Amino acid sequence: MPPGGHGGRIGRGFLTEEEKANQPKVTPELLKRVFSYLMPYSRQLALVLACILASSVFSLMPAILTGKIIDEGLLRRDMRALVTYIVLSLAVTLASSLIGVGEAYINTWIAQHITRDMRNEMYGHLQQMSQRFFTTNNQGDIITRMTSDIDGVQQIITNTFRSILSNSITLVVAMVAMFQKNWILALIGIVVVPLFTIPTRRAGKTRWTLTREAQECNDEINGILNETLSVSGQLLVKLFGMEETERTRYEKANERMVVLNIRERMAGRWFFMILSTFTSVGPMLIYLAGGLLMIRYGHDLTVGDITVMVTLLGRMYMPVNSLMNIQVDWIRSMALFTRIFEYFDMPVEISDAKDASVPDTIGGEVVFDHVDFGYDPEKQILKDVCFSLESGNSIAIVGPSGSGKSTIINLIPRLYDVGAGTVFFDGLDVRKWKLSDLRKHIGVVSQETYLFNGTIRENLLYAKPDATEAEMIEACKKANIYEFVEKQEAGLDTMVGNRGLKLSGGEKQRISIARVLLKDPALFIFDEATSALDSISESKIQEAIDPIIQSRTSILIAHRLSTILAADEILVVKDGCVVERGKHRDLVKAGGVYTELYETQFQKKEEQTLEDLHIKQLPTGVGTEEEEGAV
Ligand code: ADP
Repeated sequence: MPPGGHGGRIGRGFLTEEEKANQPKVTPELLKRVFSYLMPYSRQLALVLACILASSVFSLMPAILTGKIIDEGLLRRDMRALVTYIVLSLAVTLASSLIGVGEAYINTWIAQHITRDMRNEMYGHLQQMSQRFFTTNNQGDIITRMTSDIDGVQQIITNTFRSILSNSITLVVAMVAMFQKNWILALIGIVVVPLFTIPTRRAGKTRWTLTREAQECNDEINGILNETLSVSGQLLVKLFGMEETERTRYEKANERMVVLNIRERMAGRWFFMILSTFTSVGPMLIYLAGGLLMIRYGHDLTVGDITVMVTLLGRMYMPVNSLMNIQVDWIRSMALFTRIFEYFDMPVEISDAKDASVPDTIGGEVVFDHVDFGYDPEKQILKDVCFSLESGNSIAIVGPSGSGKSTIINLIPRLYDVGAGTVFFDGLDVRKWKLSDLRKHIGVVSQETYLFNGTIRENLLYAKPDATEAEMIEACKKANIYEFVEKQEAGLDTMVGNRGLKLSGGEKQRISIARVLLKDPALFIFDEATSALDSISESKIQEAIDPIIQSRTSILIAHRLSTILAADEILVVKDGCVVERGKHRDLVKAGGVYTELYETQFQKKEEQTLEDLHIKQLPTGVGTEEEEGAV
């Protein structure tokens, strides 16, 4: 259901087939939950209720005062009484409007605060959701839930709930006032009002159905036009000699449209006819019955009383009509709440263990102990992965694309949980760590670098909010990006996002290396870019990464021989299994998967790099495009 379901005029009071099929189950739990969002604002809600009550009573007062104006002013020819009641009547109308303004303010205030609470809760919940959630759900859906759906709640509070309250109160007040005057006329009123609303409802429904049919027919006509009047469509029509058939098809649809449009227009006319007839039948009945009582049965009803009854009756149509539509709004509202709550109820897949602890020493040591894993439980990706990385050492993971290298890495900061086996970080099962602690000690530079739309400084501070200028410069130098930053007019305050300077892939990558260096984690993880970068950029990144690999605990997914050689050990992964591990020299000799990769990929890439470097560094002395920060 689109949240616009609350807004569209025609059909607002009717459910579509789809909505009918997916009606929410309104359980006491659901209602309790909805009301739990209202409870913090119970005082303001009480005030709104009081305002609605006062405003309804005041808005009906002029109708009641009409009786006095007629009986005591006009009929008795008493000018003073006449003016007094007129002034009083105007005053209460004004009061009612003023209260209405106040009520609208409080109501909007409550709605805004409730939606704020829900948004904050939803955002907080989404932040806790696992990576799996974000990779399996459509980003558009997630954002719709955060924006339109919660806006829908605001509508429910300012429109639906308010409408139920104010219409019910107006109706009750009007009925009480009528019964006080005369119960017979009041009863007539109660019978007449629904009689009026039933036919208008039916007429409305007919009109709604016709409008929808006309819309469908219109779509069909547009379809025909698009199909047959396009260049290729026309060619097809001509080559198959279908001109006549297409013309008949178009004419038929056109004919149907004519009929539908006429019917819809006429349904509109009938609608207004019924509306005007019934609105005048009601008062006439009251006049007739009132007249009968007064003239035939000598009842002490006055002319003013009868006029009051007629006016009050007129005031009842609107609330009754609205309340009849309310059921639909109510169902839609509950459906909306149900959908929002479904999101709230999605379990947090990866959360802190209750007995979370922190090891005494943190050195970045990683152990995979017989790890199995699949994104989808049906499809296993990693099979019995075992390896260990000692503190201070580095491992290069190599393997064909899709073999599970990134997947292995994802398990260390617990973006996903293992299916079987255990991943240990510094001797402690990653599931036993406090998530924030675990992730604090792991720094990842992924292939697809993500920088927030802001300045370089802001992006760096994301890793360490209290970093000093000197620390940032130091990190940039180590990441081989400082030269670039210095060249920019704004230096560290250069915008990286779409409003500022666009950075090249290599620059972004190096800023993200600087970011990780500032974070200063115990374990560095690099997912080496495969193809996006040119060789010059690659070598600059290489220069930045090499010292880290040599001095810090690190894991890298490597595609180039130079990076692979920088690591202490090589892990060869194929089809989710670790098939070989060791030093380059031994692995090349072994004649297995690694040898094959070496011959088909690494060697070629290395030759290419050397070639590129050679050509690009010819004596022109001009900086490369990348160095000048273009693109
Ligand atoms: P590599 O890094 O070696 O190229 P990956 O670890 O990215 O390989 O992928 C291993 C396998 O897991 C591939 O078959 C890939 O399609 C699958 N895969 C990767 N990420 C996801 C995901 N988020 N959801 C489902 N399957 C995935």
